[in-house]
Amino acid sequence: MSNGISAPGVNLHRETLAVRQAVDRSQYGENSEALYLTTGFVQPSAEASARRFGGDEDGYTYGRSGNPTVTSFEQRLAAMEGAEACMATASGMAAVMLMCFSLLKAGDHVIISQSMFGSTLKLIGSEFGRFGVETSVVPQTDLTAWRVAMRPSTRLLFAETPTNPLGEVCDIRALAELAHQAGALLAVDNCFATPALQRPIELGADIVMHSGTKYLDGQGRVMAGALCATEAMVREKFLPVQKNSGMVLSPFNAWVVLKGLETLDLRMKAQSAQTLKLAQWLESHRAVGRVYYPGLSSHPQHELAMRQMGGIGGAVVSFDVRADGAEQARQRAFHVLDQLQVLSLCTNLGDTKTLCTHSASTSHGKLSEAQRQAAGIGQGLIRVAVGLEHLDDICNDLDRGLSSL
Ligand SMILES: *Cc1c(COP(=O)(O)O)cnc(C)c1O
Repeated sequence: MSNGISAPGVNLHRETLAVRQAVDRSQYGENSEALYLTTGFVQPSAEASARRFGGDEDGYTYGRSGNPTVTSFEQRLAAMEGAEACMATASGMAAVMLMCFSLLKAGDHVIISQSMFGSTLKLIGSEFGRFGVETSVVPQTDLTAWRVAMRPSTRLLFAETPTNPLGEVCDIRALAELAHQAGALLAVDNCFATPALQRPIELGADIVMHSGTKYLDGQGRVMAGALCATEAMVREKFLPVQKNSGMVLSPFNAWVVLKGLETLDLRMKAQSAQTLKLAQWLESHRAVGRVYYPGLSSHPQHELAMRQMGGIGGAVVSFDVRADGAEQARQRAFHVLDQLQVLSLCTNLGDTKTLCTHSASTSHGKLSEAQRQAAGIGQGLIRVAVGLEHLDDICNDLDRGLSSL
């Protein structure tokens, strides 16, 4: 059926899989993935239709149950993550929703870190709480706290590494052992590192969750999400819920992200290399206080990060503007952001354009000042998600505000 490579594990490198995996060609022999914009699929016979609806035969029936362009994206991402299978979703949050909905029931217990993506904390901690799922929230880097939080009803540990915006890193292998000793699963949000730098399944994780909106697309065009796991988990747990709940990825978005995956490795390496240089420049700037980047030797989990992420720190760096007190810190951070002429003031990441944001008033704006302080996010903190502009232009644009404080 395919002129490409349909199954992972044929000893090709990840860079090759990124451009070659799951190119299932039609009768026209197109070299790039076809975009199948159709809702329904015509059935070859009533018998075949019955078998497909009964789950006894593979084949497309209706857009909520599957689409060939979406399948290509799933197969390619699974291969790049070293997973058996993958299920695409409409967004990263839809992936979290699908995972929790598929695996949890009332009375189950989940452990998540306090530094996880804000919507993840809200969805699992608050919304799923209404249905009787209990959640413990622990400090990201404190393995003992994860261990102490374990209960007989613990079903899922969910970690994100590195985190937003401080780049805190947790030990995936150690968390996987902790989960498995208790018969629980470990899920990892691999949004910041991507399979180009970190492959949680190789380190023992059971599920890799993605916001494809970020680096997988990589050019800030579409929303997308995914869950990578075993074939059995995808087929038996995720697929039935996905079919009936409809959090499906649009074929157009899948096609855009497929294109993004082809350059993921190049982009992650280039953007990370710039980020390390920017972080070093920031560390030496007189108007800058602390710089948070796992690639810097000053980072508390630097060694773990380098081991776990193939020696590369990722493309997000945050820093504190020097100031006396919270009020002045906020004013100064706003000043730096308002002086930008090239970079974007934009709360997103994973774009080829460098995006700068004030975490305390945006992504973490709904937290109380005490919660923010516990999370280590001050009023002077600026997060920079580094893109592909020339490094000098990035530094100069930040320096405009920093040197005029
Ligand atoms: C953006 C993001 C999400 C949510 O993904 P969406 O595609 O916006 O729904 C989850 N986790 C992390 C780490 C993110 O950055």
